[in-house]
Amino acid sequence: MFDAQTACLVVVGAQWGDEGKGKLVDVLAERAHMVVRYQGGANAGHTVVTGDTQFILQQIPSGILHPQVTCIIGNGAVLDPDQLFLELEQLAAKGVDPGGRLFVSDRAHLVLPLHKLLDRASEKSQNIGTTGRGIGPTYEDKYGRRGLRVGDLRRVDGVQAELVERVERGNRLLAMLGSTDRVSLEELRTLLEGWAPKLRPLTADTGLLVHRALQEGRRVLLEGAQGALLDVDHGTYPFVTSSNTTAGGAAVGAGIGPTAIHGALGVVKAYITRVGNGPLPTEARDAAGDRLRELGGEFGAVTGRPRRCGWFDTNVVRYAARVNGLTGLAVTKLDVLDTFDAIPVGVAYQLDGERCGDLPGDVDALGRVQPVYERLPGWQRSTGDARKLADLPKHARGYLDRLEALSGVAVRYVSVGTRRDQIIEVQ
Ligand code: GDP
Repeated sequence: MFDAQTACLVVVGAQWGDEGKGKLVDVLAERAHMVVRYQGGANAGHTVVTGDTQFILQQIPSGILHPQVTCIIGNGAVLDPDQLFLELEQLAAKGVDPGGRLFVSDRAHLVLPLHKLLDRASEKSQNIGTTGRGIGPTYEDKYGRRGLRVGDLRRVDGVQAELVERVERGNRLLAMLGSTDRVSLEELRTLLEGWAPKLRPLTADTGLLVHRALQEGRRVLLEGAQGALLDVDHGTYPFVTSSNTTAGGAAVGAGIGPTAIHGALGVVKAYITRVGNGPLPTEARDAAGDRLRELGGEFGAVTGRPRRCGWFDTNVVRYAARVNGLTGLAVTKLDVLDTFDAIPVGVAYQLDGERCGDLPGDVDALGRVQPVYERLPGWQRSTGDARKLADLPKHARGYLDRLEALSGVAVRYVSVGTRRDQIIEVQ
């Protein structure tokens, strides 16, 4: 699906995030020239395992582990420079050299210490379940037209008046939210002056780089973070992230036109998870849910928080297919279901006495729905060594066929373990 006809492919989460996008991007990046992060910031933790080494990347696109790939942090992402420098050090310690192939958009907004303090202070009253990384307040400043962008670091002296205003405003907000934390102008200036020389060599008009790569016929992957149901417009508002995680956001956030994108691969787990608050209709609040959590290692890559676990919900995936225009599905973590004797799949909802095949836009309504389940037979055999569909047990193939039929999107990849080679590409 990532070939000459589909040279620009966006990879998005089609549930509530943590679907295993990092692994898919890593696998597809083998054939890519460029990988672009187009939204979010250090709140996403993509896990990639190569050989015996595990990498958790929050700012840097997962494609960095392939030496031929140029990686872009696009204008739609927000950048925490300290986290970026930390990841660069960790990569260097593991022998990965990103020299000359990592670029940050001059238009990407900077996450400042003030944003992290505001995030934590407002989380106390709002209780959204954010990661406290300052992402939300950074986007608030972006849309409030008072943000600081990577390009501003070229002229820290020229933004002195804005810095004074921001520090004063930030401290007023912190006081209003009941926080005793404060930020100082001197500390902010020192921080920016420290970041500037380190970021300068990485700073570029990245939209132009992506455009040129596509014009030259190169393959470009656009790497989404979080998932469709966390999109600020299409997700379960207000329990969402602060950016457009869906495929439409990829064009804006990478700085290219929507017609430049040829396909959208939706990554889904063979079951479902969610971190933080908000409705999760097919949540398994029983021993089976605990089993999914243990077998799937469902603890946040960034926060360590246990994820809420449940059964595959086709209403969610059909909805994600619609709002993303999905052209294919990648089903991950099939192996986690290997030992179950029967596997429930949510095929519809009952909402106020009526059957509903879509996702209600109102979060209260979604909290009220009763899932309708179909129970599919388990296969009770290991799938970790399967490399083609025919290697899978009959009931595992039946399970995938059913997900495909219910979702209305062709399954193009199946992941059967954490390792790079544990993947089936459906021909
Ligand atoms: P992302 O944010 O969508 O990239 O997802 P995460 O990296 O947060 O979570 C995915 C987790 O599942 C990581 O620990 C991966 O190593 C792991 N993972 C990915 N694919 C598979 C799979 O097919 N089977 C198993 N058992 N684990 C997987």
